[in-house]
Amino acid sequence: MSTQIIDGKKIAESVRLEWRVRAEKLAQLGIKPGLAVIIVGDNAASAIYVRNKVKACSDIGIYSEVHSFPETANQNEVLTCIQTLNNNPHIHGILVQLPLPAHFENNRIITAIAIEKDVDGFHFYNVGALVTGNTIFSPCTPYGVMVMLQRNLINVEGQHAVVVGRSNIVGKPMAMMLLEQGATVTICSSKTRDLSQFTRSADILIVAIGKPRLITAEMVKPGAVVIDVGINRLADGKLCGDVDFESVSGTAGYLSPVPGGVGPMTITMLLCNTILAAERAQAGVRVSYSK
Ligand code: NAP
Repeated sequence: MSTQIIDGKKIAESVRLEWRVRAEKLAQLGIKPGLAVIIVGDNAASAIYVRNKVKACSDIGIYSEVHSFPETANQNEVLTCIQTLNNNPHIHGILVQLPLPAHFENNRIITAIAIEKDVDGFHFYNVGALVTGNTIFSPCTPYGVMVMLQRNLINVEGQHAVVVGRSNIVGKPMAMMLLEQGATVTICSSKTRDLSQFTRSADILIVAIGKPRLITAEMVKPGAVVIDVGINRLADGKLCGDVDFESVSGTAGYLSPVPGGVGPMTITMLLCNTILAAERAQAGVRVSYSK
């Protein structure tokens, strides 16, 4: 079987071109979308992600600022920073780079962000909105996956979608977004007995586990759509996904590579959400029930 490779880089470029036009329209009204990124500690991977986000913002016409705190920072200092950003009309999106140091309460930090500026979509209110089909911001990684499917004209409705991984940032929102589009969804985790039994029955298989090349050809239904969210760094420094690309190409109908698949989409959807937040602010759109 010939496998069509889903080129996330190319799709990301075309999405950015479309949203750049929207940013330019705002610029004509004297508004520059603004994103604030908060980073705590000196996690090397986080520092790279933040640098990439800042560069992507500047390329598309978004103002960005980074608030860096040392590993030893007090949670209250970060909460105060979030409050200030919540009240800053030039900042439309606020993102806290995860993971936070162990002494931080993730939930307190995430729920301190104003709902209408929560461009990651992690605030409990936004999670509830997503689950009930009233999405305010789609979380960036699953949003990127949905756009990859759409741009390849892959119909989700009525398909059996299997999501491997149940994290709050990828697996769970991914499953909800597929469900919303009419897929029949199965969610698997490390506790699933006989994972292959489920993955082999998937028309659409989304893998987000963080285990290098765990999914092999025998675990995939011939012709299935396979999206690899995983990013794993190997001992030789190279990146690979959770899907064994070499083995699964030839079996899958569609396959996304790592790198060059979901990664470029995630950052693109963050830009889109920030521009959307600025458009809403400009139009005076209220996104929450009470405030
Ligand atoms: P996470 O919070 O560690 O969650 C991993 C999930 O995978 C958990 O639900 C875990 O199950 C499940 N799992 C682990 N081993 C498994 C196995 N052998 N069989 C079935 N399920 C298994 O990770 P995450 O934040 O969701 O990220 C997952 C991967 O995606 C990572 O490689 C991460 O780097 C990558 N990622 C990529 C992007 C991108 O832009 N491309 C964005 C975010 C994350 P339990 O819940 O039972 O422990």
